[in-house]
Amino acid sequence: MKAGPPASLRTARRLPKDTGLPAWYAMLPAADPAISLQGKQTADWLVLGAGFAGLAAARRLRQLDPKGRIVVLEASRVGLGPSGRNSGFMVDLPHNLQSSDYGSGLEADRALIQRNRAAIEFARQAVAEYGLPDEAFVPWGKVNAAASAAGDAHNQSYSAHLATLGESCQWLDAGDMRALTGSSYYRSGLFTPGTVLIQPVQYIRGLAEGLRGSAVAIYEDSPVQALHNLGQAWRATTPHGSLESPRVILAVNGHASSFGFYKRRLIHVMLYASMSEPLGDAALRVLGGQDFWGITPSDPMGSSLRRINGHGGQRILMRNRFSYEPGLQTSAGRLERLSLDHDLAFQRRFPMLAGLKMQYRWAGRLCLSWNSVPAFGEIDSGLFSAVCQNGLGSVQGTMAGICAAELAVGQPSAHAEALLSEPEPSQIPPEPLSWIGANAALRWKEWRAGAEL
Ligand SMILES: Cc1cc2nc3c(=O)[nH]c(=O)nc-3n(C[C@H](O)[C@H](O)[C@H](O)COP(=O)(O)OP(=O)(O)OC[C@H]3O[C@@H](n4cnc5c(N)ncnc54)[C@H](O)[C@@H]3O)c2cc1C
Repeated sequence: MKAGPPASLRTARRLPKDTGLPAWYAMLPAADPAISLQGKQTADWLVLGAGFAGLAAARRLRQLDPKGRIVVLEASRVGLGPSGRNSGFMVDLPHNLQSSDYGSGLEADRALIQRNRAAIEFARQAVAEYGLPDEAFVPWGKVNAAASAAGDAHNQSYSAHLATLGESCQWLDAGDMRALTGSSYYRSGLFTPGTVLIQPVQYIRGLAEGLRGSAVAIYEDSPVQALHNLGQAWRATTPHGSLESPRVILAVNGHASSFGFYKRRLIHVMLYASMSEPLGDAALRVLGGQDFWGITPSDPMGSSLRRINGHGGQRILMRNRFSYEPGLQTSAGRLERLSLDHDLAFQRRFPMLAGLKMQYRWAGRLCLSWNSVPAFGEIDSGLFSAVCQNGLGSVQGTMAGICAAELAVGQPSAHAEALLSEPEPSQIPPEPLSWIGANAALRWKEWRAGAEL
C-alpha cells in the first residue's frame, strides 16, 4: 500500500500533545525517571511509538530475532499516550464505531474476530511471561447495555448478528443489570464473555518493563522530529540524539499524518473520560452491585462505564463524547466542557451517589479511516506502517504491531496477508468541509444516542 510519494526527509509537523492526566496513570506508583535517546546510535530495528502497536511490534520482533538490537522511541512517557488513556476494553468481537450495530458484514467480522482473539492471546502470553499483576488483565467479558427502546433494538440486532456468527451471548434483563451495577437505569444488557478488561497503564507499563528485561531499549521523552531516508537505512532525529536503522516500524497511530503519510486519509477524533473519586463505605452501601464490571453502550455514541477495584480503590469510570480534531489535540477548556456530560450521565445512572465527584478527567486520540480499514504495510523501502486502529487499538493495534514485525522480518503470516489485502483508507474531503461534516455527523449521532449517552 502506498501512503504517499516517497520523500527523503520527513519532518514531524506536529508532536503529540495529550490533555488531562489519565486516572490509570495517576493511580499507580510514580514511574522511574525517563531515559531519553542521547547521542548517535544504531539499531537493527527501530519502532516509533510505545503504545499497543509499538510494544506488540517490539515483542514480536524479539521473538523473531532474539539477538538483534531493537529500539523503541516514545515521544511521551510509556502509558501517558492514548494507550494509557482508554477505557481498557480488549474486545474480541466486531466493534465498528461507524456502524449502528458494531458489525461490518459476516465474512469481514469472522476474520476480524480471529485477529482480535489472536491479539488477545498474544497479550495474555505477554502478561504471563512478564508476570503482570492480575489487575492489569482481567478476562471478565463485557456487557453491551441498553437504556432505551432504541438501545434494546440495537442489542437485539447485535445478538442476532452474533448468532449468525456462531458467537455466544447472554441476555440480561433490568433486574440483572441492577444486580450487576446497582443502577436501575438500564432496561437490558447483552453479555459476551471474550472481552478482557485491562488497567491500560499497568498493562502498557508491564509490557515495556518485560521488553526491557529482554534487552529491548525503550527511550521515553524522545519525540521523533524527523525521519530521514538515507537509502540503506533510516535516521530518526530526536531533541538529544539520533538513531539509524535499516528497518523502521511506524506505530504512532494518527501521528503518521504528522510525517506526511496517508495525507487526507486519516480521521483524527478525540474521546473524553472521567474517573470518580474512590467510593467510600456509605457510597458502597447505597450503591450495591458487583465491585468489578465493564459496560459498553448499545449505541456506539453512548457512554462506556467501568467499575474498578484495585490500585486507587473502588471507583467508576465514565467515557462519552467525541470531537473531530484534525490538529490531533484538544484544549483543556474543551475537555472541561465536554466532560460535564460525564457528570450528567453519571447522575442519571447513579442518583444515589449524588455528591460523588469525578477526580480525574482526560482526553485521548483515536484514528479512524472513512472505510474502517487499517493503514498497514511497507509504505517506503524498509518502513512499515502499523497505524489507524479504528477505535479498537488495544486489539487492532496489537495485531497491527505483530503483523508489521512479521512483514518486516519476512515471516509468512496469514494475519499480515489479511491486513495487506484490505483496501487503502479512502480519502476524506478537504477542510473545512471535513471539519463541518464530521462535527455535524458526530453531534447528530450523539443526539440520536439519546439515553445511551
Ligand atoms: C477515552 C478513550 C477510550 C478508549 N477506549 C478504548 C477501549 O476501551 N478499547 C480499545 O481497544 N481502544 C480504546 N480507545 C482507543 C485506543 O486507546 C487507541 O486506539 C490505541 O491507543 C491506539 O494504539 P496505538 O498503539 O496504535 O497508538 P497510540 O496508543 O496512540 O500510541 C502511539 C504512540 O506514539 C507516540 N508518538 C506519536 N508521535 C510520535 C513521535 N513523533 N515520536 C515518538 N513517538 C510518537 C505517542 O506518544 C503514543 O504513545 C480509547 C481511546 C480513548 C481516548
